[in-house]
Amino acid sequence: MIPFAYARPTTLDEALDAARDPGTAVLAGGTELLNWLRIGIAVPDRVVDISRVPGLDRIEPLPGGGLRIGALVRLNDVAADPNVARDWPVLRMAIHKSASAQLRNLATIGANLLQKTRCAYFRSEEPTPCNRRLPGSGCAAREGHDDRHALFGWTDDCIATQPSDPAVALAALDAVVVTRTATGGRRIPVTDFQLLPSEAIDRDTVLEPGELIEAIELGEPAPHSAYVKVRERESYEYAIVSAAVTVRLCDDGRIAGARIALGSVAMRPWRLAEAERRLVGLAPDDPAVTSAIEAAFAQAHPVPGSAYKVAIARGATRRALMTAAGVRP
Ligand SMILES: Cc1cc2nc3c(=O)[nH]c(=O)nc-3n(C[C@H](O)[C@H](O)[C@H](O)COP(=O)(O)OP(=O)(O)OC[C@H]3O[C@@H](n4cnc5c(N)ncnc54)[C@H](O)[C@@H]3O)c2cc1C
Ligand code: SF4
Repeated sequence: MIPFAYARPTTLDEALDAARDPGTAVLAGGTELLNWLRIGIAVPDRVVDISRVPGLDRIEPLPGGGLRIGALVRLNDVAADPNVARDWPVLRMAIHKSASAQLRNLATIGANLLQKTRCAYFRSEEPTPCNRRLPGSGCAAREGHDDRHALFGWTDDCIATQPSDPAVALAALDAVVVTRTATGGRRIPVTDFQLLPSEAIDRDTVLEPGELIEAIELGEPAPHSAYVKVRERESYEYAIVSAAVTVRLCDDGRIAGARIALGSVAMRPWRLAEAERRLVGLAPDDPAVTSAIEAAFAQAHPVPGSAYKVAIARGATRRALMTAAGVRP
């Protein structure tokens, strides 16, 4: 590990000021950043520890409805919040299926969206061709192991996927990322927050240098929602694929609206917009529901080693939809 300076600001303004310096890395829970420092993915001159900045660790109802979750709230505290449990259960489910209980006690919700791909070549401790680590060096996954890679939105330069579980739930909730800079801030739909390889390969999100996540905001409650994560073992494992679904139901049980997001299939949660449109007006157990989901996956374009993931993702989507709608899958 290369030596670096360390600072621990005590106000948000101090943190924003410090984060502006080039060569600075921000530390929250440290569960990702410390790995990057060890492997050499990040080589900062200075680490700015924002974990004790007050005001970013609260969960507050929004005046017009909805919920504001401070960026520094620990994953387990988000999942334990009674409002989240009642009105946005898909987020609670996704968090409970993330990492381990110990990690969730440290890991923060804002930084969870900033975790990097788990592509083994990207995380390699040996020099390996990886356009994301070293632009122009190539993509070892194209010739090597590509069984955890993309179904949608990849390019020849990079076929990696984003591994966050909460991001998938937040995409199905149409959540908003609220950011701050020393001079202002903005509101970014979570579905636009992470970048596909066709948009950028030298960065993962639209965050600019010096821009911090202040909070994540949830809108209208989505009590009928579910998260399904398929992984090699039932605990402490990243997803092969995952699916988050929210549904609104009419009085007669038909679907009034649905939002479907898939995880670990692209460099950001992948919304199945066409399927969402086709589901409106259907009873959850109507065979046309299966057809709508199948049609959505006809657009999947898996890399060779990941073709098996299509059937798994289709099944996860159907199971999440049925669970959200309260129908036995
Ligand atoms: C062994 C292991 C297993 C895991 N399994 C899963 C899993 O199954 N599912 C899953 O979803 N995740 C998983 N994770 C990822 C984990 O949830 C994330 O590492 C964690 O949420 C990141 O939060 P942190 O506070 O520790 O981030 P840090 O390591 O402190 O920071 C990560 C990045 O975010 C930046 N950052 C931090 N806070 C802010 C902010 N407010 N504004 C702007 N930038 C900021 C930092 O500069 C850094 O670049 C796993 C991690 C580990 C180590
Ligand atoms: S898939 Fe992306 S992250 Fe993995 S080796 Fe290729 S360029 Fe690097």
